[in-house]
Amino acid sequence: MYKSIAIDGPSGAGKSTISKRLAKCINFEYLDTGAMYRAYTYYYLKNNIDIEDEKLIEKHIDDVKLSIVEGIFYIDDEDVSKQIRSKEVTQNVSLVSSYASVREKLVREQREISQKSNIVLDGRDIGSHVLPDASIKFYLDATAEERARRRYIQLNDDSLKMEDILADIIRRDNFDSSRKISPLVKAKDAILIDSTNLEIEQVIDLMIKYLGEYDVI
Ligand code: C5P
Repeated sequence: MYKSIAIDGPSGAGKSTISKRLAKCINFEYLDTGAMYRAYTYYYLKNNIDIEDEKLIEKHIDDVKLSIVEGIFYIDDEDVSKQIRSKEVTQNVSLVSSYASVREKLVREQREISQKSNIVLDGRDIGSHVLPDASIKFYLDATAEERARRRYIQLNDDSLKMEDILADIIRRDNFDSSRKISPLVKAKDAILIDSTNLEIEQVIDLMIKYLGEYDVI
């Protein structure tokens, strides 16, 4: 049986940077589940499929030919790694990911992928729903203001305003936490790490300490 590490938390808590580095450090695979929801959103927007229409999204669910090769996301043969980070995708992904048909399909794929190797998965519902028996679960949090500050630095775009980024983070937090199907929630058995005042390396060191204690590594 392969080991799995679930890392959940709100937008901008540092999940993907930390998950990627942690995976590399301990020689595990890494799956960015948010990028899967983003890829589906990108496909629907690009093909002018009305994302407000849940039935239509369901009808076109199997049109999306997503593949992930060495961490790079492809739709058909197009590398969409950059496009899935666009403002338009970011603004619409929470709606698309709230639909049952999308979640069921992607959760099934996430479970299949996690059975093939030792792996770190980051997302919103990994510990609470996708992998309830994960070897270890972390819930990574930080204040909304600190998460907005980090995103502002990361995006490095003078045309963006900090208050808009903060508003978008709060909007996504609310949407992700209040949706009906597998909302963002800390699993009961997840270890809470508040990274507001921690550097990335400190968070990773702390996680590695827990991995040792839980016999994951
Ligand atoms: O992690 P990231 O910010 O890229 O995720 C984009 C969006 O995808 C989230 O705001 C959330 O709506 C959705 N998501 C989800 N479940 C996951 C991962 C992401 O609903 N496991």
